[in-house]
Amino acid sequence: MSGGEACDGKKLVRSSSGLRMVPKHHAARSPFGLDEPPWVPDKDCPRCMQCETKFDFITRKHHCRRCGKCFCDKCCSKKVPLPRMCFVDPVRQCAECALISQKETEFYDKQLKVLMNGATFSVARGTSEKSELMVCRLSNNQRYLFLDGDSHYEIEIAQISTVQILTEGFTPGEKDIHTYTSLLESQHITEGGNTRATGMLLQCKVPESEELTQMKFTASEDFNSNKKLSAAWLAAMHKAAKLLYESRDQ
Ligand SMILES: [Zn+2]
Ligand SMILES: [Zn+2]
Repeated sequence: MSGGEACDGKKLVRSSSGLRMVPKHHAARSPFGLDEPPWVPDKDCPRCMQCETKFDFITRKHHCRRCGKCFCDKCCSKKVPLPRMCFVDPVRQCAECALISQKETEFYDKQLKVLMNGATFSVARGTSEKSELMVCRLSNNQRYLFLDGDSHYEIEIAQISTVQILTEGFTPGEKDIHTYTSLLESQHITEGGNTRATGMLLQCKVPESEELTQMKFTASEDFNSNKKLSAAWLAAMHKAAKLLYESRDQ
């Protein structure tokens, strides 16, 4: 592949940060993506923003591709993959950013595949008690959740307003085995803790209206569904929601 050649609706872009493979149309970009940060101008940083070493001909300045701040080589030497900004190769990052990017690697290397492979859930729409067994998977362009059963739904990731992961409750005496765990409080789900995700509540905007619709996903105990797979899918969805919120907040 040569420079500028399009591939699957994508194009190669070269900037001072490195080579990126981005969608041709901005609207087609991943909802988990991040924009490249503006670089701190050279004139505004006479010293490394970490160790405060003064820059000169020997101590050259380098910009972290993730935060755009200015560092000496020692404080910005790690090259780490940064798929959220569509970089083709690992790029230079400061220690703080390198750590965040390394943590995201698990999502891109493993969990994204889990989401795309899909899992089976019993899905109820709105407040309805009636549910339908459906295979849920993330589209290859990361922009939709496809639900397939007797019917077919597409949820645009950009329209999702809240994600709540339901977990097995551990509160003694509590009759209901499900507890609603808010996104930020449920970090241990993805960290391999002993709390297993059993379902998910999604709220999404109805296109062209201000209304919200709710869907409840429950890992199914029967049929051919694999509970472990469903739990892994929910953990991946949980991480995806965090990235989604971050991307919106930037
Ligand atoms: Zn430094
Ligand atoms: Zn940084």
